[in-house]
Amino acid sequence: MACLLLRWLVLLLSVFGFFGAHAEEPAFDNPLVSVSTSAGVIVLELYPDKSPITVANFLSYVDDASYTETVFHRVIPDFMIQAGGHLADMTELEGKEEIHNEADNGLSNTTGTIAMARTNIIDSASRQFFINTNDNTRLDHSAESCTREDEAATEAAAERGLVRPATCESFGYTVFGRVVRGMDVVRHIELVETKDEGDFYDVPVSPITIKGMKKIGFDEIDNPAVSGNDQQHASEQLQNAQSGSIVDNTPALVLLIAIDQFRNDRIDASLPGGLGKLAREGRMYTDASLDHGLTSTCPGHAVMLTGVNPSKAGIPGNYYVDTAAWELKYCVEDDATEHLVLGGEEGRSPWMLSAPTLGQQVKARFDGRSFSVSGKDRAAIMMAGHEADGVYWFDKDQVRFTTSKFYQQSLPDYVTTFNQQFVDALPLLWEHDAGRFRPDDYSGESDDNSRVSGHEIRDGDIDELGERIYDSPYLDTLTFELARRLVTEEALGQKGVTDVLAISLSANDTVGHQFGPYSAESEHTLNVIDTELAMFLDLLDQTVGEDRYIVALTSDHGVANLPEWQTELGQNRCPIEGGRIGLYGFIGSLLFDIYAEYTAPWDFPTDLVMFSGSQLYINRPYLAQNQLEFDQVVSGLTRILEAEPGVKKLWTRSEIEHTQSNEARLLRNSIVEGASGDLYLQMEQDCIISDTGTTHGSLYDYDRSIPLIFYGQWVSPGIDSTPVNSIDIAPTLMEVLGIPVPSNLDGKALELSF
Ligand SMILES: [Zn+2]
Repeated sequence: MACLLLRWLVLLLSVFGFFGAHAEEPAFDNPLVSVSTSAGVIVLELYPDKSPITVANFLSYVDDASYTETVFHRVIPDFMIQAGGHLADMTELEGKEEIHNEADNGLSNTTGTIAMARTNIIDSASRQFFINTNDNTRLDHSAESCTREDEAATEAAAERGLVRPATCESFGYTVFGRVVRGMDVVRHIELVETKDEGDFYDVPVSPITIKGMKKIGFDEIDNPAVSGNDQQHASEQLQNAQSGSIVDNTPALVLLIAIDQFRNDRIDASLPGGLGKLAREGRMYTDASLDHGLTSTCPGHAVMLTGVNPSKAGIPGNYYVDTAAWELKYCVEDDATEHLVLGGEEGRSPWMLSAPTLGQQVKARFDGRSFSVSGKDRAAIMMAGHEADGVYWFDKDQVRFTTSKFYQQSLPDYVTTFNQQFVDALPLLWEHDAGRFRPDDYSGESDDNSRVSGHEIRDGDIDELGERIYDSPYLDTLTFELARRLVTEEALGQKGVTDVLAISLSANDTVGHQFGPYSAESEHTLNVIDTELAMFLDLLDQTVGEDRYIVALTSDHGVANLPEWQTELGQNRCPIEGGRIGLYGFIGSLLFDIYAEYTAPWDFPTDLVMFSGSQLYINRPYLAQNQLEFDQVVSGLTRILEAEPGVKKLWTRSEIEHTQSNEARLLRNSIVEGASGDLYLQMEQDCIISDTGTTHGSLYDYDRSIPLIFYGQWVSPGIDSTPVNSIDIAPTLMEVLGIPVPSNLDGKALELSF
């Protein structure tokens, strides 16, 4: 009867919008977790500043999906609802380490707060939690609470057979967050019919299941997409996969195609080959972009199969300054001799990459295999990650495809054979048509190897052969040929497990840097990719099977138009006439100013400041030795740089961290603690620091714009204008594969079938 009354009361209050009003919005910095239950979604705000241990513990269960499939097993109206420790059949799940009780943090067990459940022992909470549905202040820590000393004394007494009468109150239950959305769901759960079952009391008659928990962003608070059914589907598929058999409908091969420097607008559905086919028959996202601000190749590839932004992947840019050694380092550079490039003198490995790739997950879960191939070492390594069965790239100096001892001690025979064959098959010159968009010979293009058709390949200086191949579409022809050999020699997608193959086509970038997008050279390069991709997809149809593989196609970044062309189009927004800033003039005058102001007469300006792309690093030991203040140098650099035409802003770390703007957010997503610079230099749009060609690296739309296409029987074809990011690729593929999507990914799984 009381129950029924309460139900009515709740209904009335709901109708009058009592629970609909958001009393107090969560603090911007606090973590938010969406709890998807069979009764609806609850969003929690957590308080890491008040309950650091408890929050970290709770999030560790969220992160590894430990709460998925647990139920609210204890529900008492007017008191609380408890969950997190039992499955629907009341099986008790093992917890991790018991944690230190933080009930003395000053927070009270008021209505809507979440607290840890525990046994009578003070420090015994592990995984179970409860949401207070009333002001349960008797659960709070107070001056009368027993201390740990009291507890130890009681225990010691008990060991001697003595029972000490309790003279103090319970230590209290640690409040570590509160419900900020979905209190109506909590009320609904609070009032379901319950029963007693064996040793358990107040168990809901129909189980209320937690389908999944996920950390969400502040902007997702009113739209916390945790798809319960999908997660359930995922865990079923996982169980099947773990029991040794691939679910019939699981892809046998995941193919990632990355086209380096491929801006979204260059996708052309009318192309006759593979690119056109994917654009027409796949699901094409027309509003795809990078969700980070430093748009270079290494981070761009790092995000594709990890599903996290560069800040979490550990990769700020292609280069960074190792501040301890005060040296510029490459993102895949590795000094360990056991990680040398085969046939080379330098080491390469993914040691900086701090997030697991899809390939690693597939290896761990399905016993599948993971391969990558690219014209560039950093692309191949970032897509494959730490464990892979073959990671190959083109080494300009050796004029062959190679790998690092980090992955393999020697090249497979078929790679060696390929290396011995391909040079003779290359033409003397790279010849191409005039181009549809603009004349072959165009001002601003690099004349390093001819501005017009007839660029040297095998013709000319043999020492330059590697470089010439690297800067031509033949780089991609070779990459595809090696990928075809991988498919046949390794029987990819043909061994009853799920394999991953990632291919990055670098020539679109190397050619694009010299001639710009829409040049005759870039157009030809794209046509080569289109033709080669068609052949490659044909091979997969024959070997893996038409309906047995899924393709994701994307890019690591976009690019700026050639400034001369941008000017001709009447779209150049750079305040400098023509849009070009000479690299040596710009850096030279900057270094001179730093020298004159800080390091003259005996030291180099680079003893104090080093550059890596748009990042500036300040040498702290040098400051100390020369009685310079960090802030004083920062304001000096700001004055010097912001006086330069074409410079928009020199950002400090603190500005990046505290500014509420999309630009600041994008920069935050690129910041890696311990590797990022102290300052970030933002140029005006369309300003290119280079005498010829064009480049990328900025946070502007043209550099962040990328294509995203999914193709395969799991995908409903069509044009989709939903805004998406390349961090969404990994979680989307994970859902198709039935791998539970970890809640700590930055990307979200996209809905591919309708
Ligand atoms: Zn790139």
